[in-house]
Amino acid sequence: MKEAQYGPCGLFCGACGATDCDGCLSDKIDDWVRRCKFRKCARDNKIEVCCFCPDYPCKEFDDFMNDKWPHHWTIKENMEYIKENGVKKWLEKQKEEWTCKNCGAEIIWYQRECSCGAKLKAWELPE
Ligand code: SF4
Ligand code: SF4
Ligand SMILES: [Zn+2]
Repeated sequence: MKEAQYGPCGLFCGACGATDCDGCLSDKIDDWVRRCKFRKCARDNKIEVCCFCPDYPCKEFDDFMNDKWPHHWTIKENMEYIKENGVKKWLEKQKEEWTCKNCGAEIIWYQRECSCGAKLKAWELPE
C-alpha cells in the first residue's frame, strides 16, 4: 500500500500503478509528481484538496479533468464528494472501490484482471 493515498487534485494514489512513487504527498515521489502544478499550488495556498480553494475549479483543474486520461475524468466527482463528506470518508470509499471484490487485493487503474483471475471493469487506455 502506498504511504500517501491521494493528491490535492482529487486522484486516488492508492490505485496508481507507479512503483517509483509512494503517493503524491509522500517523500518518495517521481519526477512527474515533483513537477506537478496542483501539488505545488495546493501547498503554496495551504489547501488540502482543490475543492477548498477559493479559485476552484481553476483552468488547470478543468484542463486536467478534460484531457485524454480516463482516471482524470473522476476528479470533479471526487471533489464534490469530498466537499460533502470530507477526505477521510472519500478515501474509505475509494479503497473499497479499488479493491478486488473476489480476493481483497488492491487493484490499479486500467487493470483488466486481478492476480486471483477475477475480471475487472477497467477503463480503456487512451491512444
Ligand atoms: S496530478 Fe499532481 S496532485 Fe494530482 S495525484 Fe498527480 S502529482 Fe498529485
Ligand atoms: S483549484 Fe487550482 S488554484 Fe486552487 S489549489 Fe487547485 S490547482 Fe491551485
Ligand atoms: Zn482478486
